Amino acid sequence: MCQSLIYNNLSIRYYFPVMTTIKSLSIVVPVYNEEDNLPILFAEIERAMSRTDKDWHVIFVDDGSKDRSLEVMRQLAEKHDTVRYVVFAQNCGQSAAFKAGFDAATGDVVVTMDADLQNDPADIPAMLQEYERGFDMVIGWRAKRQDSIVKKIVSKIGNGIRNRLSNETVKDTGCSLKVMRTSMAQLLPMFTGMHRFLPTLMKMQGAKVAEVRVNHRPRQHGVSKYGVWDRTKATFFDLLAIRWMQKRTFRYTIREQK
Ligand code: UDP
Ligand code: MG
Repeated sequence: MCQSLIYNNLSIRYYFPVMTTIKSLSIVVPVYNEEDNLPILFAEIERAMSRTDKDWHVIFVDDGSKDRSLEVMRQLAEKHDTVRYVVFAQNCGQSAAFKAGFDAATGDVVVTMDADLQNDPADIPAMLQEYERGFDMVIGWRAKRQDSIVKKIVSKIGNGIRNRLSNETVKDTGCSLKVMRTSMAQLLPMFTGMHRFLPTLMKMQGAKVAEVRVNHRPRQHGVSKYGVWDRTKATFFDLLAIRWMQKRTFRYTIREQK
């Protein structure tokens, strides 16, 4: 049976999961006009991480914010060694922000989450535990999503179409709260919109992926950066690119090499 090259190299781990111990993590947070959310988010992350024995730091990626987000980041970084930041010259989108965060990450694991407090940092310790059971990626599933009814319906239909066309079973790929092996995240082909397909891209590299239920909260400060229909249209075209990548992924097995 032919499998992709990387998958093949990982295949023993795939079938016989090896428990891993996470030493350090980089928490990557894309930020676009989230000034009121950042101090609260950082305090919540600190509280959640105090329940673990891991080394950690946050990497805020300022995606060209026009409010005081950068000023708030600088203040937090001055007070706390655990705060780092990357600042874009202009708004480049959430995928670019994730990519810059992956590249800046020095932890053996990357945790991604939104800056707007919709994801709950209190979920991180349980996700790390799941990862340590032998996964390369753990993704959140917002079982009780706190968004408008239109957004929830469109997202449900979108997830169904995405799963069907990309041969997936991911319950909620749009949930930003994810834990990923840094060395794999740094190798992902990232383009605008690709952050919505991270589980599929990771699986194409041979990653073993687990899903866990996570909390989801309504946005309290600031506004959503996406219109429902714009996102749906863009995602559909990105899905075609993902299908193309899936079909064209190398699938050879090396039988002998000298
Ligand atoms: N975001 C970003 N760049 C953008 C749009 C959004 O960095 O161009 C960030 C935003 O600040 C937030 C996350 O991506 O931390 C998710 O955005 P949002 O909460 O608006 O999305 P929604 O929850 O409405 O899907
Ligand atoms: Mg949000």
